[in-house]
Amino acid sequence: MIQLENVSVKYGDAIALHPLSLKINEGQFTVLLGSSGAGKSTFLRCLNLMNNLDSGHVRVSGFNGNWNRQKLQRLRRETGMIFQQHQLIVRQTALQNVLMGRLGYHSVLRSLFPLSKTEQELGLQSLKRVGLLDKALCRVDRLSGGQQQRVGIARVLVQQPKTILADEPVASLDPATADEVLSLIHSISQEGGISAVVSLHQVDLARKYADRIIGLAGGRIVFDGRPEELTEAK
Ligand code: ADP
Ligand code: ADP
Repeated sequence: MIQLENVSVKYGDAIALHPLSLKINEGQFTVLLGSSGAGKSTFLRCLNLMNNLDSGHVRVSGFNGNWNRQKLQRLRRETGMIFQQHQLIVRQTALQNVLMGRLGYHSVLRSLFPLSKTEQELGLQSLKRVGLLDKALCRVDRLSGGQQQRVGIARVLVQQPKTILADEPVASLDPATADEVLSLIHSISQEGGISAVVSLHQVDLARKYADRIIGLAGGRIVFDGRPEELTEAK
């Protein structure tokens, strides 16, 4: 469970998130729905403590209060982050990018290759799960946008995360590919009992996949409920 208590964020004088409190239960697929500038990225960065809080506390099951370096490292290992722009290393293969999720950026760049068999197998399993086993040795800049995002998902899977945070993971994809990629994140979350918090600006996709929708506008929660409770007006 993730719990935010009275959390707020400012950038200079500008309030990006007004004080908010909520709980996110384990195993749920939660969608943060809002337009650009609503505060979705800021909210997500609070959940893994990548953003400085102006007020409040974040508690994550097993951890609370005093966030020392060690606890933060563990939290981030257990929390996989997927981004709109994939954040892949362009000249590396899909497999190398995936293993980054496990070994960390610097160790991969320092070329700790050849990798152990176990590492390679874990990486290949993750690529298989996202349907890209045959692209393992392809450079990621030769892959389509949808395939690149699948590599981003495989990179998170290899971490064996307890929580997946995804910041507009399908915003740069065409509608059909967006639906496929979101469906993949949804089934991975359901199969593994992995909590997912995914930001989107598309109401139709939110309705289709969310267990819970949190609507954000101007840094405030304007809706919090089940998809069927979201009326057209919102
Ligand atoms: P999106 O709507 O796709 O989240 P944003 O423009 O809100 O895009 O943010 C893109 C990136 O730029 C984010 O990392 C955010 O932190 C940063 N950013 C957004 N607005 C500002 C700003 N006014 N000053 C500095 N950085 C900003
Ligand atoms: P969203 O992800 O919904 O687009 P963000 O969390 O990126 O929203 O941004 C919320 C608000 O905070 C926006 O007004 C944005 O311009 C501002 N903002 C975001 N990041 C920064 C930053 N690093 N510095 C200054 N302002 C920022």
